[in-house]
Amino acid sequence: MNNSQLFGGIEAGGTKIICIVGSGPDHILERIRIDTTTPEETLQNVIQFFQPYTSAGKIASIGIGCFGPLDLDPNSPTYGFIASTPKMRWRGTDVLGILQRALKVKTAIDTDVNVAALGESRWGASQGCDPALYMTIGTGIGGGYIKDGQALIGMQHPEMGHIQVLHDLKRDPFPGACPFHGDCFEGLASGPAIEKRLGARGETIRADNPYWDIEADYIASALRSYILILSPRKIILGGGIMDRAFLFPLIRQKVLESLNGYVESESLLKSIDEYILPPALGNQAGSLGAIALAQQACA
Ligand code: ZN
Repeated sequence: MNNSQLFGGIEAGGTKIICIVGSGPDHILERIRIDTTTPEETLQNVIQFFQPYTSAGKIASIGIGCFGPLDLDPNSPTYGFIASTPKMRWRGTDVLGILQRALKVKTAIDTDVNVAALGESRWGASQGCDPALYMTIGTGIGGGYIKDGQALIGMQHPEMGHIQVLHDLKRDPFPGACPFHGDCFEGLASGPAIEKRLGARGETIRADNPYWDIEADYIASALRSYILILSPRKIILGGGIMDRAFLFPLIRQKVLESLNGYVESESLLKSIDEYILPPALGNQAGSLGAIALAQQACA
């Protein structure tokens, strides 16, 4: 693969879709933002953007990081379809097939969070660290686990936001906001859960509000499980809630307390500031990760 080879990247979110053409962070040829409306209109706009490139044979492949849940079982007849999303108009949309048939170029799809994890691992904060974990803590909570350069997919993609975390009902009587599990990690610690509990959005809640200590406990409780099960060499915490930078030292300290010296790794015990850290690609992790996914599809 030479540096001049171009790829397409699509970061598909619930409100906007970013499409880029390029080969990496230092070489982005074109970038557009499309509003997410109906599947028909939105995907038509995406196709229109890429068509001049694909019809001229200028793009080797396209990667899509898409909101989900997605069907990622390659043996399933609905592989690459959006599954049970609350965005009703998009439920059952064959995102992969529609784009692939229209653009006639090799196309790969994965979840938005897996693709952002891939971007951070290729060009961002977890570059050179494998395996690595990337979490997004915002409107929802999800995690992407990169091992041997690939995002982990099993029978489906992982749903790391829905694990159980320690919930002391005396300290935090909030029953949780997940429609499936109530007080799972996402049900307790996502942006909407905070808003429902405190009546204010996370970004407007003062740093000295005692709730943040509880929030950091939930995040640390989840990280403890991920560290023990997945043993990542780096953990990146992104998403709207993690824009509150004061949470990082709190979470690091609570992770160390919770593991209580059991995992004897220098990167954890001596340099936890470098072990749990914010993303390096900012809001570009998704679109660049989609380029990395496209490159993998060609490898
Ligand atoms: Zn849940």
